[in-house]
Amino acid sequence: MIELQDQVQNQSEIGLPVGIRQARIDQIQLEQGKIHEGQIHEGQIHEAQVHGDRITDRIAAVQVAAESWSPQRVLSFAFDTFGDRVAISSAFGAEGMALIDMASHVHQDFRLFTIDTEFLFPETYNLMERIEEKYGITIERVYSAVSPEEQARTQGEALWTRDPDLCCSLRKVEPLRRKLNELSAWITSIRRDQTSARSSAHKIEWDAKFGLLKINPIVDWTSKQVWRYIHDHDVPYNALHNQDYPSIGCTHCTRAVRPGEDPRAGRWPGFAKTECGLHLIQPAGPSPADGASKAAKVGG
Ligand code: SF4
Repeated sequence: MIELQDQVQNQSEIGLPVGIRQARIDQIQLEQGKIHEGQIHEGQIHEAQVHGDRITDRIAAVQVAAESWSPQRVLSFAFDTFGDRVAISSAFGAEGMALIDMASHVHQDFRLFTIDTEFLFPETYNLMERIEEKYGITIERVYSAVSPEEQARTQGEALWTRDPDLCCSLRKVEPLRRKLNELSAWITSIRRDQTSARSSAHKIEWDAKFGLLKINPIVDWTSKQVWRYIHDHDVPYNALHNQDYPSIGCTHCTRAVRPGEDPRAGRWPGFAKTECGLHLIQPAGPSPADGASKAAKVGG
């Protein structure tokens, strides 16, 4: 057992996340015959098999290489590496629709989920039905643990007018965290030029906030590229985009933009808020990539 702790301690020192560290403990115990497979969560076995004890090196190397990959190649990497432990997260904006269409050509049975705040536009719900029909998939809908009625009862009416951060936390961040707990990686359609918080995003990066790999295949695309893809491939999109809604969220917090306004000016009007919290970067905490460079220095 001392030998086992030593092996894992080495990985702890290079910043390996707790979940994967546990998977390594399980893997080593399995190899040493101390436990049998039935005692290990299936996801942890998969995690350990995918990453082995080389996860830190792999992420650091892939992160650099992936910056020159096409979105389709990034998607292939994601599906080949993680199988059904990776899913696309989308609110079905223009970027999400382009990404969903690309994914359908790379891997037919891809997983797609959305955080349904229960405050979405009818046009968005309509688009979800069209997506399911066109691509032959079922969108995994994730809801807040708190119903809109319960939220009004416990937090007061129209929380979004007083504390949109708390409202987003209850209706978006908490359900997302719950969903991501069942995955090893998630795929998003964020672009660097959308907000300052997204400007330093990579195509493949460690998501310290949620503790898994985050994959952003079109992070270096412009809005123009997205719309060119949509028109060239006849991709369905939200009807509100034709009514001056470049960015679409909940009904309570989205308005059309006026000529000359920033594309995201219609989100949370009257507040300085630009993000719902799903893509804000966690400032603290080591990443596996950090750990890899640290390990390389130690080893070198
Ligand atoms: S976008 Fe508005 S209504 Fe939707 S969860 Fe956030 S604060 Fe609440």
